[in-house]
Amino acid sequence: MQDDAFGDDSGKQAGNHPDESQWAIDTLAIRAGQMRTHEQEHSEPIFPTSSFVYGSAAEAARKFAGDEPGNIYSRFTNPTVRTFERRLAALEGGERCVATSSGMAAILSTALALLQAGDEIVASRSLFGSTVSLFDKYLGKFGIKTRYVELSDLPAWEAAITPATRLLFAETPSNPLSEVVDIQALAEIAHRHDAWLAIDNCFLTPALQRPLELGADLVIHSATKYLDGQGRAIGGAVVGADALLEEVFGVVRTCGPCLSPFNAWIFSKGLETLGLRMKAHSAAALELAQWLEAHPAVERVHYSGLESHAQHALARRQQRAFGAVLGLEVKGGREAAWSVIDATRLLSITGNLGDAKTTITHPATTTHGRLSDDQKAIAGISDNLIRIAVGLEDLEDIKTDLARGLDALTA
Ligand SMILES: *Cc1c(COP(=O)(O)O)cnc(C)c1O
Repeated sequence: MQDDAFGDDSGKQAGNHPDESQWAIDTLAIRAGQMRTHEQEHSEPIFPTSSFVYGSAAEAARKFAGDEPGNIYSRFTNPTVRTFERRLAALEGGERCVATSSGMAAILSTALALLQAGDEIVASRSLFGSTVSLFDKYLGKFGIKTRYVELSDLPAWEAAITPATRLLFAETPSNPLSEVVDIQALAEIAHRHDAWLAIDNCFLTPALQRPLELGADLVIHSATKYLDGQGRAIGGAVVGADALLEEVFGVVRTCGPCLSPFNAWIFSKGLETLGLRMKAHSAAALELAQWLEAHPAVERVHYSGLESHAQHALARRQQRAFGAVLGLEVKGGREAAWSVIDATRLLSITGNLGDAKTTITHPATTTHGRLSDDQKAIAGISDNLIRIAVGLEDLEDIKTDLARGLDALTA
């Protein structure tokens, strides 16, 4: 079966609304990528179908040969998935987006598409835990080596690059310490050494930060987080120039980590409120960070929106706001941190984030629990550190919930 060939309808961002290039980001989030069917539906439709049919044997032959555009099979293309891809591509300012079954599938597909045995990655030390496992345990098995550097230390990035380096990979701001890297400067370093820069933009989303505009080659998303925004589905995406994304698309359609139409529909609807949500998350997180910083039981707050943050000026320059995630160190050790977490009644004790519901977690014993003591020390994951991903509940209720444990520490 010649399932490798098909034409223009192969997920390229063709056929956009004629005015799209004039639209602001909040309009794109609501309107971009929708393809209304002959039913004239107002909201985006869902196409839960594995395959597509043809009017004749000749039409099927043309579609399989790639002589005529059109859907064949939902591992390759699906209209609902395409709407999400086109909407996210528009928001990130990228030529093309390929959706995947999870954020990890987006990173894996990118690596499979761009790298081969003998190639190297340079990545920031403060990455999502599964990303580190993917790089070391699985890509390592196929002869791809990853070197880790301090996120904000540009000379360290450059020093870690070798002739085999093909990809630089970073998350900014970092989780949970909110460290920031200068994306534009990092892109210049990558390009000087013939490497690509990929930015995992999960924490800020295109509503607050657009890495492609700053010179990054690829943006990676876990749609599971703020693109959905309500903790309902797992998914991911890669955005960038058409030529690179054609390679990523080849991996997804052949190897199979494709996004389900139902989840794509959830994410497209999630994007409609992305701008509003990210503004509200950020405003609440900033106010909470300032309030925590002034609390006598708090030793330190890590949030790039605070004046006290070492890279506040850079964060202001490259971000529209500072996102929902903050780290706070309480006075005391693990017991003190756990007592604050356990005193909450509203916040959800969970390692997840990107939800309307505020979440609280103790990184040293959960998300970063597998690191050795030395690795934790290098990464700044201390025993008294708590991570909060600020949701959309009333801020006074969130403060009341945290004050219960914090006040008890100083009583
Ligand atoms: C959650 C997350 C991922 C992985 O995404 P999944 O959808 O869980 O596979 C990757 N990067 C970051 C920064 C994340 O927070």
